[in-house]
Amino acid sequence: MAKVEMRWDLSQLVENTEQAAIQKKLESMVTEAEKIRQKYHGEIGDLDARSLLEFLETKDSYILRFEGVEMYCRLMYSADSTNDLTKQLNDAVRRASMRVEQALAFIDIELGRLLARKPSLVTDSVLTEYKHYLERILRRVPHMLSETEERLIITKDKNGINAWEMLQSDWLSTRTFNIQTESKTKTLPYGEIIGLYQSPDRDLRKRANQTVYAGLGEDEIVWASAIRAICEDHIEMCALRKYPIPMTQSLIANDVDQSTIDSLLRTIEKNASVYQRYLRLKAKLMNLKKLANYDVVAPLPHGPPLIYSWNQARKEIANAYVAFDEEMGAWVGEMFEKRHIDGEVRKGKASGAFCSSWMVGKSAYILQSFNGRIGDVYTQAHELGHAVHAYLRSKAKQKPSNFPAVSCVAETGSVFGELLLTERLLSKAKTKEERQAILTNLLDEFGMAAFQVSARVFFEQSMYDAIKQGKFLDGETVAKLWIAARDKIYGDSVDWLDVMKWEWTMKPHYYIANYRFYNYPYVFAQLFVFALYRLYKEQGRSFIPKLKRLLASGSSKSPRELAIELGFDITDEAFWEKGMTQAQEFIHMLEETL
Ligand SMILES: [Zn+2]
Repeated sequence: MAKVEMRWDLSQLVENTEQAAIQKKLESMVTEAEKIRQKYHGEIGDLDARSLLEFLETKDSYILRFEGVEMYCRLMYSADSTNDLTKQLNDAVRRASMRVEQALAFIDIELGRLLARKPSLVTDSVLTEYKHYLERILRRVPHMLSETEERLIITKDKNGINAWEMLQSDWLSTRTFNIQTESKTKTLPYGEIIGLYQSPDRDLRKRANQTVYAGLGEDEIVWASAIRAICEDHIEMCALRKYPIPMTQSLIANDVDQSTIDSLLRTIEKNASVYQRYLRLKAKLMNLKKLANYDVVAPLPHGPPLIYSWNQARKEIANAYVAFDEEMGAWVGEMFEKRHIDGEVRKGKASGAFCSSWMVGKSAYILQSFNGRIGDVYTQAHELGHAVHAYLRSKAKQKPSNFPAVSCVAETGSVFGELLLTERLLSKAKTKEERQAILTNLLDEFGMAAFQVSARVFFEQSMYDAIKQGKFLDGETVAKLWIAARDKIYGDSVDWLDVMKWEWTMKPHYYIANYRFYNYPYVFAQLFVFALYRLYKEQGRSFIPKLKRLLASGSSKSPRELAIELGFDITDEAFWEKGMTQAQEFIHMLEETL
């Protein structure tokens, strides 16, 4: 493979990549933040609509000025956490960001106080563009602490939960595993050995799972210490901030309400049998009595290999997007041409995949470890959906305050992109085996995002319950909680290796500081998009501008409002059942190939 095409060109993010210039820019990021503080600290409470608008615009233009340098330092480190320069850049940006956060911590507090006193500002016509932004702050008001306390929390988090998060991530990305493949023993980094989970060789898959999870289990003390510290910290912060339940912070951050998420998770629990029906069907397709855990997302035996080179993947994905919408397709093409995707597999690189929006560049940067499997092609289509989403928001000139789509909606473009890829691949399939391979891949992904991720929601919930009951979360205790949550979804449809009790150790999401319940937005997005996809099939091309409008909205409207614009009520189980019906249709299509 032509490796350079698979590596990022991050130099576009900054005017000058020399370390001294980066350092200088970071220093000015701090001094500019301090200037904003000098001008507005203690003053926000007295602002009228017009001066509040001016302040919000000042804040937004500040974010845009230093977005590039921050991204540059962080992405350089994601690309290689073992290099001295990138370590220094990461350290420098962390220190600078902490100082900025401290300098600007007064903003949310003072804005909160202002809005609590003058709630009419939220609906003032001068502030129309910031209406929903202000509504969201008003919702956080009852949970805000004093400025001194907020600053103290930022300071203690740096070497507290943020450090635990970094330890988990660094520890995982520097692990290596010895595995026997084709008569020789190979030592592989984590990012590479997980590629073997999708090997057509069932025994190799089993050994890869056994090796990785047995290895991760040996370090249970590291993972358990990190997860326990992060969860216990959260419980204490909930009490301090008066959140009634551990999920409240995330509900507010995701701009959704409890009735919506309850209704979503009830639909999932009720329909666990739908997923189990699929898993039994898959066992049949694999000529097995029952699936083992290493078969759940494995390719079918005797199926076409479905291995893609970087360029083949690029072509299929670009075509899938072009067939849906020319503008979106052209944008996907540019992401490759500008080298905004880092797909190379190498040690020291962050594991998993993500897409970082770059507002100033009207673009984004994607990281993944591309092993050529169909799952990697789907990951790429998924992350490019995020990139398209970023592009549509930039084009709609969303202010930085309205730009970050809340998680539930943030996955809309990406999961929709996966369905477009499926459509493209199914239309080109020549044999029933190919259809089976494509549909099982789609349903594997659906099963993971909707059902396996729900198990993670139940798991995370159970850790907080256990802590509240006074239990000490050591490795074995956490493992038991994970197994209980897992079985709620899978029932007896799968046989698990014993070491799979350590599955929670490698999921970065449980460790992200101040970001609890990262999981249910994936479930939300999966069912939301399946329902949207149904609308697209019903309404044809007239649906496309509606989807683009939804994607361009960012966080300027709540997910509930966005759904109402499309004619749905997301607090109603009937809405989520629609997505489930679409899933059952895909399962039916697969049954028909038998
Ligand atoms: Zn995503």
